[in-house]
Amino acid sequence: MKIYFIIAKLASLGADLSTRNAVRMALSLISEDEELTDQIYVEIKNKAYREDFSKVPVEKRAVFIPQCLRNVRECPANFGEYGWECVKCGKCPIGGIIEHGERLGYRQFYVVPGGSLVKKILKAKAPKGEIKAAVGIACWPELAEAAEKLSILKIPIQGVPLLRAGCINTLVDVERVREVLELGLYEHEKTGVALSPVPKPGL
Ligand code: SF4
Repeated sequence: MKIYFIIAKLASLGADLSTRNAVRMALSLISEDEELTDQIYVEIKNKAYREDFSKVPVEKRAVFIPQCLRNVRECPANFGEYGWECVKCGKCPIGGIIEHGERLGYRQFYVVPGGSLVKKILKAKAPKGEIKAAVGIACWPELAEAAEKLSILKIPIQGVPLLRAGCINTLVDVERVREVLELGLYEHEKTGVALSPVPKPGL
C-alpha cells in the first residue's frame, strides 16, 4: 500500500515524523503529495500507540463515532448531553458497532457532531480517570487533529478513517472498527495471561 511504502521511505531517511508539520515538511522533501500528511500522521500515531491502547481496560476506552454515520432520515435517537443516544435500531452501522463493543465490555460510546463535544467529554471524564484511551472514527483531518490533542493529554488513540467522508451518509469499514475494539483483548491466547475477562464473541 502506497502510504506504508512512503512511511518506510521517510523512516529510512531518518525524517522527523513526530508532528503533523514535521510530516508535511518531510513529504515535501521527497516530492510527495502533502495531502497525505494527515493519513501518514494518523497511521504513525496508530502504530505508536497500539501497545499502550491495548493495555487499557475496555471500560476506560471511549469510542467516538461521528454523527454523519447515522441514517439521518430515520434515526430515532435523541440528542443528549454527550451526543446522540443510539437505540440500536439497525438502520445504520452505529448500532452494530456499539453492540459488538458492549459484548467486549466497552461502556463508553459517544455519537458526536464534532470536535467541540469531544473536547467537552474529555474535559469531563479524562481528569477523573474515566477515559484512558480512545477510539476515533472520523475523516483524516479530524483524526489527525484528535491524535495531536490526545497526545498532549497522554491518551492513546486508535483512529479509523471514514471510507467516504462528508456531512451525511458516510461509510466506515466496520471490520476495521471491530479489529480496533478487540485490540489487546485476546493476548492471553498468545501469552497465557488474560488481560480481559470477556469471552470471545461467537464462541
Ligand atoms: S443504529 Fe443508532 S445511530 Fe443508527 S440510525 Fe439507529 S438509533 Fe440512529
